[in-house]
Amino acid sequence: MADIIQLLPDNVANQIAAGEVIQRPASVVKELMENAIDAGSTQIDLVIKDAGKTLIQVTDNGGGMTYTDARMCFERHATSKIKSADQLFQLTTKGFRGEALASIASIAHVDLKTKMPDEDLGTQLHIEGSNVTEHEPCACPDGTSIQVKNLFFNVPARRNFLKSDQVETKHIVEEFLRVAMPHNDITFSMHHNGDEVYFLPAGNRKQRLISIFGKQYDERLVPVDEETTIVKLSGYVGKPDKAKKTRGEQYFFVNNRFIKSPYLNHAINNAYSELISKDHFPSYFLFMEVDPQSIDVNIHPTKTEVKFEEEKSIYAILQSAVRNSLGKFNVMPTLDFNQEATFSEFIDPNRPVVEPEIKIDTTYNPFEKEKQAKLNNGGSSIRHAERSTFPSNPSTNTQNWESLHEVTRSSGVNSEQTVETDLNQSEQRKMFQISDKYIFTSIKSGYVVIDQYRAHYRILYDAFIQQIEHRNGESQGLIFPETVELSKTDFKLLNAIEDELKILGFAYQKEDYTINITAKPSSLDEVPSADIIAQLLDNFKMNADNNNVSPKETIARSLASGTAIRKGKKLNPQEISDLVDRLFACEDSQYAPNGKKIIINFTFEDIEKQFN
Ligand code: ADP
Ligand code: MG
Repeated sequence: MADIIQLLPDNVANQIAAGEVIQRPASVVKELMENAIDAGSTQIDLVIKDAGKTLIQVTDNGGGMTYTDARMCFERHATSKIKSADQLFQLTTKGFRGEALASIASIAHVDLKTKMPDEDLGTQLHIEGSNVTEHEPCACPDGTSIQVKNLFFNVPARRNFLKSDQVETKHIVEEFLRVAMPHNDITFSMHHNGDEVYFLPAGNRKQRLISIFGKQYDERLVPVDEETTIVKLSGYVGKPDKAKKTRGEQYFFVNNRFIKSPYLNHAINNAYSELISKDHFPSYFLFMEVDPQSIDVNIHPTKTEVKFEEEKSIYAILQSAVRNSLGKFNVMPTLDFNQEATFSEFIDPNRPVVEPEIKIDTTYNPFEKEKQAKLNNGGSSIRHAERSTFPSNPSTNTQNWESLHEVTRSSGVNSEQTVETDLNQSEQRKMFQISDKYIFTSIKSGYVVIDQYRAHYRILYDAFIQQIEHRNGESQGLIFPETVELSKTDFKLLNAIEDELKILGFAYQKEDYTINITAKPSSLDEVPSADIIAQLLDNFKMNADNNNVSPKETIARSLASGTAIRKGKKLNPQEISDLVDRLFACEDSQYAPNGKKIIINFTFEDIEKQFN
């Protein structure tokens, strides 16, 4: 019988390797930038077109390559970085597998220009699908420039599975930052479709973070420094009151290489425990230096996972160093731990506590349609209960009870029982709050439990949506304009939602990446603009991958979830009945905008069954 085993042709082997190493345009960006760093560059420029689908170009001013190396570098297992297996454990460079360029050249059209500083001429080379079609001397600047065009041109399955430009760009930006962040002594730039996205001049570590994230980070960061025999730790952590709702700003680097480590992340979370609420994430930018021999970076093809020899000690050192820093810089908890995340967390902790002022509207008449409409239209009395206007006559809201029944019936819950139920006047005031979280109320057919936060979230969300749709947001001018400094990307994001923000009542002037807010929605007048904007942008980033949520919805969700009364907030009887009334005036009173249940219904039948 004939032998059937053959060696795979190189181009096929390369394509298979590419499947592991190059998952998307961002992977190319990472590999090219890492090579540029290993080449000793002091300036690295990234240019992309169409989220890297059309072009990814990395230009450096590093050591360049010889005529022969320019050809060799595209061979599989071609590397200048290790010569023997034991060097694998003493890595000081980023590369070592020698398969990135070979992989890239097997699935794209690649142009390379490279020149060593002490040579007169450089080399240019064109390679596509692993075939070299041009290789000749040329005049070019010192260093190396690689253009990768039409990525995955010969792997349609891969190409078709790429996400939207927005998503792919987000991945590229993330890779770019992961490489640029620890290399603060190198100048980096990034351009996308002709626009400069980042320009990061060489500087110290803090300057690098500030040029990435914006000037406002200057006062948000707390330094961390610790040197032990196992690890030298440096970097910054974010102040707890600036913690974000997205996991985004969490960076660990080991020997200047970005790593993912759920285990070490846990150490940081522990250091912050009791300082931030559960649904918030601390920001951190931590750089660890360890003996290259004590880690194994070879366990993952894209090298974001690292195995430490002394993992447990590093965990303990991290946790205590971060705790120390938070203590030393007197970052005290400013939060109410019973509450979910709220804008109030961002409010200046030094602001004096003001006695709540409760205004009572003695002329309130719940049957007056206009007033009711106003209440339902976001003129929330509960949003800031401290300064609210509550109806004074709680005893005569029968109409709303009728609507409660109507709404309950139309949404098909307990329909049979409810339809038959006549209102029992004596029962209408049996509403009370349990554990400052839920509203419990009986109806003739049983009882309902309402989640107060979700109920208010729904009410406010509907109001904001209505304001955007009817273009009738209420604006309030600010005596002292509020200034918000943004990073370049955040600034662009904000521009994309400018229309909606204006409709809601924001007015602002732009200057560089700073916005001066001169008016904002009147319902948000107690919340600092910087916090509203930060949360809005956060929510946009969280929803970036989700094409199902429109900007309008994202804005309404963000503002409503940020301002709704929290669990743990004690409500007085009038606030309770007001909340219930307004909830049942909403088209969908059963579910909050995030899809979570607002109401649980129990019938007497349910109760009886329980006693059987
Ligand atoms: P690795 O980085 O793992 O060695 P690569 O395929 O990424 O493998 O690169 C192969 C080789 O090509 C590198 O070892 C290096 O010698 C050379 N090389 C790649 N990019 C550059 C660059 N920008 N400047 C100088 N040499 C480079
Ligand atoms: Mg490499």
